[in-house]
Amino acid sequence: MPFHVMLIPTLGCPANCNYCWSSEEKSPIMSIETIKEVVEWLKVFRQDSVTFTFHGGEPLLAGVDFYREALPLLAEGLSPRNIAFAIQTNLWKLTPEIAEIFARYDVPIGSSLDGPQELNDLQRGKGYYEKTMKGYEIAKAHGLTVRFITTFTSHSVKFREDIFNFYLEKGLTLKLHPCLPSLKGDNPEKWALDPEKYGELLIYLLDKYLENMGKIEVMNIDQLCKCVFTGRGTVCTYVDCMGDTFAVGPDGGIYPCYRFVGMPEYVMGNVYDRPTMADLAQSDAWKLMHKYKEFVDSECGKCSHIKYCRGGCPYNAIVPTDGEIKAVDPHCVAYKMIFDEITDRVNQEMFGSAGSMDMFLPQTMKPSRPGIMSLMLKKI
Ligand code: SF4
Ligand code: SF4
Repeated sequence: MPFHVMLIPTLGCPANCNYCWSSEEKSPIMSIETIKEVVEWLKVFRQDSVTFTFHGGEPLLAGVDFYREALPLLAEGLSPRNIAFAIQTNLWKLTPEIAEIFARYDVPIGSSLDGPQELNDLQRGKGYYEKTMKGYEIAKAHGLTVRFITTFTSHSVKFREDIFNFYLEKGLTLKLHPCLPSLKGDNPEKWALDPEKYGELLIYLLDKYLENMGKIEVMNIDQLCKCVFTGRGTVCTYVDCMGDTFAVGPDGGIYPCYRFVGMPEYVMGNVYDRPTMADLAQSDAWKLMHKYKEFVDSECGKCSHIKYCRGGCPYNAIVPTDGEIKAVDPHCVAYKMIFDEITDRVNQEMFGSAGSMDMFLPQTMKPSRPGIMSLMLKKI
């Protein structure tokens, strides 16, 4: 797992998505002083290359001056090591000035869109779609790469075909995220996607992807196939993220990941104190994360997918139970469903009666529809 530091310039956000679990109205904005402290902290904390992802809340609320100063401070302050950047934003506040800075530092953008306008605005609020698309046009005009994440909820999963077709017709890459229980509202489960429905959705997308190979990219399916093929996790959910991923909140507080930012019980230290790895290891949050890793070793010990699943996301497992480790990530059901499906299909393709070692047949004798091996061998 490469070293990854998420910077959370604020937990504030101008949108008001129904299922939001991470924004805070009165959140402060990170100062440039804090960015300077991040640089000083990292100079001694770890020497390897680092990817910084700006996340929120809505990170563009920090404004153009913040990015104009922060990017060179981080890139030059930590040279000669390789520094990469990324940002997760709803794009509402993207201006040509900010886009120019991002183009200079080659910052890929992750944004959020839940599918066609009507469906998106029902979940994320009226006017959301237009504001995001306006920012998307600015990003495109500056040559920036934008990938959208779709949050599938208990409602939108009923429209999975419309959502898939929306991405297909627009020529956009599809990346998805299951809606998690919102810890803020009175009814946390209202929009959350049931794990079994999530598993069914992944299998449905696998089929749709194979039917439409070459016309669309479904990132999650690529990643899941690669996990099975290489026997190693390819995204944070499927590796032991603890120790390689950290997040820094608006006040310089250090957390295990952006998902914990704003929860005082998960603060591991503060960049202003320049903690070492050994210092962070003294914190309760660090100990809890590592306890989760040990729990996964025993709880998932007999699961055939353990090497490339690793019990899923510790946040999903720990936070809804108030910091008590009672079970692995509740999406285990979905992970098992899709990993079993991929494994069965690859076995069928390689050794089954239908496939009978298809991969070893000459090109002219191969079945015309691409199979799962083509996804496994795909470069991602
Ligand atoms: S806590 Fe979850 S979201 Fe955060 S880095 Fe770990 S696996 Fe990823
Ligand atoms: S699929 Fe479930 S049991 Fe298997 S490793 Fe993942 S979380 Fe653990």
